[in-house]
Amino acid sequence: MDFDLSEVHKMFQAAVREFAEKEVAPLVKEAEDTETFPVQLVPKLGELGYLCPSYPEEYGGGGLGKIGDCVLVEELARICAGITSGIMVQGGLATYALLSHGTEEQKQAYLVPAVQGRKIAAFGLTEANAGSDAAAIETTARREGGYYIINGTKIYITNDLICDFVLVAAATDKSKGTRGISTFLVDRDTPGFTVAIMRKLGTHSASTGEFAFEDCRVPADNLLGEEGRGYKYMLEALNGARISHAARSIGVAQAAFEASLNYAKQRAQFGQPIGRFQAIAFKLSTMATEIEAARSFLYRVAWLYDQGNECRKEAPMVKYFSSELAIRVAEEAMRIHAGAGYLAESVVQRYFRDAILFHTTEGTTEIQQLVISRELGLFD
Ligand SMILES: Cc1cc2nc3c(=O)[nH]c(=O)nc-3n(C[C@H](O)[C@H](O)[C@H](O)COP(=O)(O)OP(=O)(O)OC[C@H]3O[C@@H](n4cnc5c(N)ncnc54)[C@H](O)[C@@H]3O)c2cc1C
Repeated sequence: MDFDLSEVHKMFQAAVREFAEKEVAPLVKEAEDTETFPVQLVPKLGELGYLCPSYPEEYGGGGLGKIGDCVLVEELARICAGITSGIMVQGGLATYALLSHGTEEQKQAYLVPAVQGRKIAAFGLTEANAGSDAAAIETTARREGGYYIINGTKIYITNDLICDFVLVAAATDKSKGTRGISTFLVDRDTPGFTVAIMRKLGTHSASTGEFAFEDCRVPADNLLGEEGRGYKYMLEALNGARISHAARSIGVAQAAFEASLNYAKQRAQFGQPIGRFQAIAFKLSTMATEIEAARSFLYRVAWLYDQGNECRKEAPMVKYFSSELAIRVAEEAMRIHAGAGYLAESVVQRYFRDAILFHTTEGTTEIQQLVISRELGLFD
């Protein structure tokens, strides 16, 4: 058994950490304050080959597998979860189906520019009446000659204002349920496609919003894979994305822990650093232990995934475990910082606002528990 990262992954980790600290950290305050994703990072990450580290080298990816993806996401999230959201979607949810099921023409037109940071991608599944119940989508795509006509509205979509194209799920045959859902590559400048921003509690530097499609004509060549297989493609992408999501949670938990450890050593009350009080020391011990456990679990699941295991049980497990851990750790960080943590300029209040999202994205905790229960054979 070898529990360590390979030499290649360690080098990648060191390089990404340096990039995150030198190139990303200075952008965070402005990006969060103005609720703007710093788009200049995308071509920079693309040039370095950091945008889609798990994808094959023939498409410009790093060939570093899911482990590489988790290294990138964890290191970026240690600096800023909001910025990481946009990068994660680009290297996973929005492009994975393209990699797995796209034609060579589609890959050259959309995947390669996304990997190189020349195009920004989004993933459009969720709707007002279809959140956890993603199969209930009402967006439709009707075939008309050489085109599909898309009508419908998507909400909460990451990279909304900044995307160049979106992978959209739409019903091509409502009578067939999930087998009547297809996926389409839709260019941002397609007439009838409009975007609107949605403001949020946290991850302010991520661009999130609503996509509306009104008689949006998309060339039939932009159908991804086979008609009626889109729901399956989306679930495949979501399953892998849950592992990366766990890395994001652990990155934020690590940041909240590091800030709390420093604060507990510096802040003195009753004549001594608060870290000397057992109540605070035990909180930090628990935080450190749980982060170690989650990280070990994460890289074990990423390794399994890279071995070709679908991780249908393990991906929701590690997503659920790590996201709830991040929420707990971020709350403990707030308690350790007390009044100082509650101030707007405090970094831990950002971790707290960001972490609370992790219960929801890539499927809520309850949905992960549902999937795990099914995998345990408790019900269909
Ligand atoms: C910041 C942000 C970014 C996002 N980015 C994207 C994106 O890029 N693309 C995209 O397509 N979507 C995106 N989403 C949407 C996200 O995936 C959904 O919010 C999520 O799937 C939950 O759906 P919902 O919010 O409608 O909650 P609901 O489904 O309405 O759930 C409400 C509550 O009911 C519970 N619940 C629902 N069904 C069950 C059940 N069967 N058993 C037990 N409990 C249940 C849930 O766990 C939750 O606690 C984003 C969301 C946010 C907030």
